Amino acid sequence: MRREMERTAVADAVEEARRVLGEKLLILAHHYQRDEIVYAADYRGDSLELSRRAAASAARWIVFCGVHFMAETAAVLAREGQRVLIPREDAGCFLAHTIDYPSLTELWRRLAEVMEPDREVIPVAYVNTTADVKAFVGERGGACCTSSSAEAVLRWAFSRRKRVLFVPDQYLGRNTARRLGIPEEEIAVWDPRHPPERMDGYARARLILWRGTCNVHVRFLPEDVERVRRERPDVRVIVHPECRPEVVELADEVGSTSYIIRTVSASPPGSAWAVGTEERLVARLAAENPDKDVFSLAEVPPFCSYMSLTRPEDLAAILEGLLRGEERNVVEVPPGIRAPARMALERMLEITSS
Ligand code: SF4
Repeated sequence: MRREMERTAVADAVEEARRVLGEKLLILAHHYQRDEIVYAADYRGDSLELSRRAAASAARWIVFCGVHFMAETAAVLAREGQRVLIPREDAGCFLAHTIDYPSLTELWRRLAEVMEPDREVIPVAYVNTTADVKAFVGERGGACCTSSSAEAVLRWAFSRRKRVLFVPDQYLGRNTARRLGIPEEEIAVWDPRHPPERMDGYARARLILWRGTCNVHVRFLPEDVERVRRERPDVRVIVHPECRPEVVELADEVGSTSYIIRTVSASPPGSAWAVGTEERLVARLAAENPDKDVFSLAEVPPFCSYMSLTRPEDLAAILEGLLRGEERNVVEVPPGIRAPARMALERMLEITSS
């Protein structure tokens, strides 16, 4: 009953806002958002697709239903006069919270004990970072990446400098390194909570990984893969590259959110898929593919609690505000951070479009 009321409230608000604001309004939703939000949006997508949509849009207001770093990315890429609004300002990200500008600066300073970071190291930041982290990367000639572009961006980075610093998702970094054939002994991990006294262990590293993980994807375990294969011998296991490397090794397929959607949707009727990613996406994928058996890889499917914060009434409140001439929850990035962060994002978009 409550769900029906929410659906109606947001549908009415969206319809009215579209009627009055027309092409001046663009509503974007990440795949991990609630169904009511996803179905109300103009576009749904993963981080890369939504960054591209935001960058290509001429809308005056971009309402970004996702977590804060995503809306901030859209604000960094926004054109003159465009405004990005987020329905929930408190929608953070466990992974993005593992890193900030001062802690990154401290690592760079410590690396100088055993190498010349400005000349030898190129930083690469997953988009799941705040704008100041992207700015740090942009200032040093580096680029951002998403889970779908990590491999291309790492190749690009290694073609420029001897070493790469990849932040903050250690598993995405390690899984991508394995695809590129980088040996274990050339990888070192930096734990910002327990920095070493001596830096000798980093002197030979070609790839330095930040010790960050996503609380959702870390929940999938190798035992889950073994269990689903026992219970369902015909199952195919598909996981996101933020999962542990031991899980990725055992999976049949690994790829970004969009890759998972494309692969499962294109599989023959009757296929069985155990999916290692956020539960709202898995449940929607199952509902949109009734001719297949699609289920979570985990016994207790993990939700992203930050993504769940955005309720239909939060989106409705933003739209009703716009109709009254009020811009609520505008995401702003100071110009000194915006310019270098934009360089890092634009490099990513160039690498992935070439
Ligand atoms: S699923 Fe993980 S990486 Fe994505 S927003 Fe949630 S905490 Fe961050």
